[in-house]
Amino acid sequence: MVRYQSTRGKYSHITAAEAIKMGIAPDGGLFVPDVIPGLSPDDLKKMENLTYQERACLILGLYLEDFSAEEIKSCVSSAYNETSFDDERIVPLVKIADDLFIQELWHGPTCAFKDMALQILPHLLTCSAQKTGENKTILILVATSGDTGKAALEGFKDVPGTQIVVFYPADGVSEVQKQQMITQEGKNIFVAAVEGNFDDAQTGVKNIFANEQFIQILNQQGIKMSSANSINWGRLLPQIVYYVSSYVDLRSEERIREGQAINIVVPTGNFGNILAAYYASRMGVPINKLICASNTNNVLTEFIRTGSYDRKRKFERTISPSMDILISSNLERLLYELTDHDAAAVSRWMEELSLSGSYQVNDAVAEQLTDLFWADFANDQQTMAAIKEVWQQHNYLLDTHTAVAWCVYKNYRQETDDSTPTLIASTASPYKFAGSVAESLLDAQTLADKTEFEILSHLARYTGQPIPAAIQGLEKKPILHKTITTQAEMGNTVLTLLGNRRG
Ligand SMILES: *Cc1c(COP(=O)(O)O)cnc(C)c1O
Repeated sequence: MVRYQSTRGKYSHITAAEAIKMGIAPDGGLFVPDVIPGLSPDDLKKMENLTYQERACLILGLYLEDFSAEEIKSCVSSAYNETSFDDERIVPLVKIADDLFIQELWHGPTCAFKDMALQILPHLLTCSAQKTGENKTILILVATSGDTGKAALEGFKDVPGTQIVVFYPADGVSEVQKQQMITQEGKNIFVAAVEGNFDDAQTGVKNIFANEQFIQILNQQGIKMSSANSINWGRLLPQIVYYVSSYVDLRSEERIREGQAINIVVPTGNFGNILAAYYASRMGVPINKLICASNTNNVLTEFIRTGSYDRKRKFERTISPSMDILISSNLERLLYELTDHDAAAVSRWMEELSLSGSYQVNDAVAEQLTDLFWADFANDQQTMAAIKEVWQQHNYLLDTHTAVAWCVYKNYRQETDDSTPTLIASTASPYKFAGSVAESLLDAQTLADKTEFEILSHLARYTGQPIPAAIQGLEKKPILHKTITTQAEMGNTVLTLLGNRRG
């Protein structure tokens, strides 16, 4: 049976349900499976005739051996269905050229790839709670810089046995992102603005998690806190599914030969999405190179090329904000795999990172990094030029994050001459970042004095492509959440919000 162990070495033989319920290991490490289940060429072939949902059941089943087939099926069908996704294929592929395909991961309810995991995580979590005899209500606390908050609200909305509170920075999210959150419906959801920036909101949430007295108060009310961010194995696992599934699609549509390897390009921030592709490769999906694309916060480019991780640099705000990250948490899982589960080495590097802001891996790990991965970055100017070029040449509209991946792939082709068929992971609908996308295509005068919502309609008219239902008409929706708080008051705000709802 697949069990889970912590990358810091103090926890092992943990069942999947316990690992998902705990989220992060109590020793500060992340949970990983003790063995990675394999998929033979024959297994992949058999999947060609299955739907996305059936493939998901199969792959999740390999990792969640303590879940019954019915439990998995119920989680999968609650998550990936035609009410939540606007394309019945769930993850459609778009052919750009004979050797280049775009994997659209944003057909879920919030138009970003985070839906792929956050639509199913609440069901995996409540199922895990039931299986481990947990009878408390699970309270999810989220600090968001934009995309995660809305995806978590949509995922947890009206899921029995859960409540969710999302804190967003009062100055720090886009108009569309803010409107998406403050108009959110659902009986068990709460949204509040925090005065300050994302760090202030994030620190406030961390303080609440560490506040013993607060945990006690919740406990007396029958509530237990948990987290929905990407360190939870229950968020990473559903992402492995789409890499396997898209490979199988490429094969069944005869875009590639049997057994042929592909490259995968991933616009990367916290290293979750690209790590899922790494696990797919370890399972047996033929992958030649995993191409890691960063924006000017290019700490991962340097790391993959040199084995040296250094977060001591200026944090840059870019037009691909979901990748504005200097500490990529999920990298810890990769290091654990590349060292053959050497928890002592991983713990040492993570300690160096938190004490001095940098660490250097050994030669054996550095060599594997350059073997498996290729990395580069693009700045805002290059990103905007790519959006324009791809629209003009291919009549395909990229969002700012996917455009970073496009730039890096172009550099890769130029430097390596490798013509292996390639999949670019597209992580958001272009309409989610309409301001920057429109700026790339249209002149400044056309956009002057327009609100984000006016720009959205303008962009839709210009491209002739419809605005996704999830964003359309957003500016007219009633505002349901008006709470504003400060970092120091966030705990009290949680209690007040929960209390009001019960009363
Ligand atoms: C979160 C996000 C990313 C980064 O994904 P990671 O798993 O953190 O590497 C890229 N693009 C978009 C649109 C996102 O929301």
